[in-house]
Amino acid sequence: MAKEFSRRQLFRLGPKVISEVHKDKQEVEEPIPLRPPGALRDDEGFLKTCERCHACADACPYDAIGVFHGAEHGQHELTPFMNPAEKPCRWCKTMDCVQACPSGALHFNDDKPDDVDPESLFQYVPAMAKIQFHQDACLITRGTLCDECNLFCPTHTKSILVIGRNVRIKEDVCTGCGLCVAHCPATPNALTLQDCSPE
Ligand code: SF4
Ligand code: SF4
Repeated sequence: MAKEFSRRQLFRLGPKVISEVHKDKQEVEEPIPLRPPGALRDDEGFLKTCERCHACADACPYDAIGVFHGAEHGQHELTPFMNPAEKPCRWCKTMDCVQACPSGALHFNDDKPDDVDPESLFQYVPAMAKIQFHQDACLITRGTLCDECNLFCPTHTKSILVIGRNVRIKEDVCTGCGLCVAHCPATPNALTLQDCSPE
């Protein structure tokens, strides 16, 4: 069953998910939600394509996909979103959420072969988000030993490395699943996620 996340929880994703938009010459802030894996990059396109059916949320074995409920969410009402700090994606091999989507709002890359092994589908989904590292908040910078982000990174080659007192993110292999964000013990969190929508 899909869980509802509050607007407050959504804002915990970090300041970088908040985009400034201009309406009637007045500057307002509107959150750009993180969408599930394989989502159309352009959120306007996503909003037009998504059928609000919640098949993705229902298919996720980790209950990682939330659904906005309530008119206060405006155009995002009944659309799916991720909140990795609370419910990180596990980047399942079979990508059940993408497979379940009937509309194309979540989709595989064009280079996915028709006869691909279902256990390899995870290789044909673009990164969900971009990781941002906040060095000042990192415990290592403050003199405490810590390698939680590296420990919990599920990618085969480890997308986040702790080298001495530095953290290095391998952007070419990071999926933006958010497991490191969920496990970072620093307050405030030294890792946040930014959506991948075009600049
Ligand atoms: S990849 Fe797996 S864990 Fe992540 S949202 Fe999809 S079904 Fe859930
Ligand atoms: S399965 Fe696809 S169409 Fe249905 S809510 Fe999820 S993203 Fe939207």
